[in-house]
Amino acid sequence: MDLQERLDELKGLGLHRRMRLVSGPQGPRVVLDGKPVLVLCSSNYLGLADHPRVREAAAEAAMRWGVGAGSSRSAAGTMTVHGRLEERLASFVGAEAAVLFGSGYLANVGVVAALAEPGGLVLADERCHASLSDGCALARVETRRYRHADMDHLAALARASAGRPLLIVTDAVFGTDGDVAPLEEIAEIARRRGARLVVDDAHGFGCLGPGGRGAVAAAGLEGEVDVVVGSLGKALGSYGAFAACEAATARFLANRARTLLASTAPPPPAVAGALAALALLREQPHRVDKLQANAEALRAALAHEGFGTAGSTTQIVPLDVGDAVPALRLCEAALERGVFAEPVRPPTVAPDAARVRLAVMASHTKDELRDAARVLARAAAQVGVRPAVSAPVAAARSVRPFDGQAAPIARAA
Ligand SMILES: *Cc1c(COP(=O)(O)O)cnc(C)c1O
Repeated sequence: MDLQERLDELKGLGLHRRMRLVSGPQGPRVVLDGKPVLVLCSSNYLGLADHPRVREAAAEAAMRWGVGAGSSRSAAGTMTVHGRLEERLASFVGAEAAVLFGSGYLANVGVVAALAEPGGLVLADERCHASLSDGCALARVETRRYRHADMDHLAALARASAGRPLLIVTDAVFGTDGDVAPLEEIAEIARRRGARLVVDDAHGFGCLGPGGRGAVAAAGLEGEVDVVVGSLGKALGSYGAFAACEAATARFLANRARTLLASTAPPPPAVAGALAALALLREQPHRVDKLQANAEALRAALAHEGFGTAGSTTQIVPLDVGDAVPALRLCEAALERGVFAEPVRPPTVAPDAARVRLAVMASHTKDELRDAARVLARAAAQVGVRPAVSAPVAAARSVRPFDGQAAPIARAA
């Protein structure tokens, strides 16, 4: 089919995406396509992307080490600044070692493909991030999906594969719903079965756990997960990612992760920016508390506006809408009123599971979040949708097996 026809088809289905232009630095408010808006779709959770100390560190690094690393990590691309950040990250999350990658996407693809063994099996949560799925595809190893957060299903699949090398992969905090994986149970299944475990903590690192050490630390599982991947592009406000693991695993990844071997090392300014952001996180852990307090404030404000609030426990607050077109319209109506929220549509989520994903930042004020909830309520009324905050995964798990469908929405009369 002609590409323009395919684009038109996407438009008709409400699945078309357009990139909007932000002027100036990232923050809770930005100028979007020339118009001031409140941002509810950024993963700059702690507001560090434009922090003066982070900017200065990046600028100084550009003067001291230049802009680019010039080659892959395994050639001349590993510089002293990379080594320093790896040491600090490992010590922060309580791991023996950390390996820097170009991004969270690259880290997940590289780690999963490197650790999946020929003749073995990968078990992945059906809602895991695209980068984990793509790692499975690159590994060319049989991959099976277990129902979202369904531990009986995971345990059964793990038992059925006895005798084969097994790798289990999951997000720690699911990016579209903000629910936390049952990490203790997953780790226990992996331990009993002798399986390796990879946990993607892109949305937990810097946001959850003591001092922002992440969802794995929050679950008391430090040192019990083979590889924890954290992004430097979200809470730390920079770019890049790391895999935290044992020293031997780190050496293995440096030898076998194709996305590390075949891609340029992260640029020194981004690495130095992440170092400065990590130092700020250590000095000012109250940013993490503020983030979670703001998430609570947004949920309360949404409840006040009549939205159901049985939702997530993290800084990601999803509104179930169902169909892609009303999700898109709701976001357009909110944007007209100065609130920038993101519709999450297929293929990111299952068909009929479109949602409006709200992401809170520590740098939002409570007033901004209250105003945003009001705007979203008006936008929903205008579009004729009455979305409820998504049901928590625990309910989906205990009440019925997840059938791949979102909870139905009640439409306003
Ligand atoms: C954003 C994200 C990634 C990718 O991280 P980047 O550093 O942005 O490439 C991986 N996993 C999850 C769950 C994410 O949300």
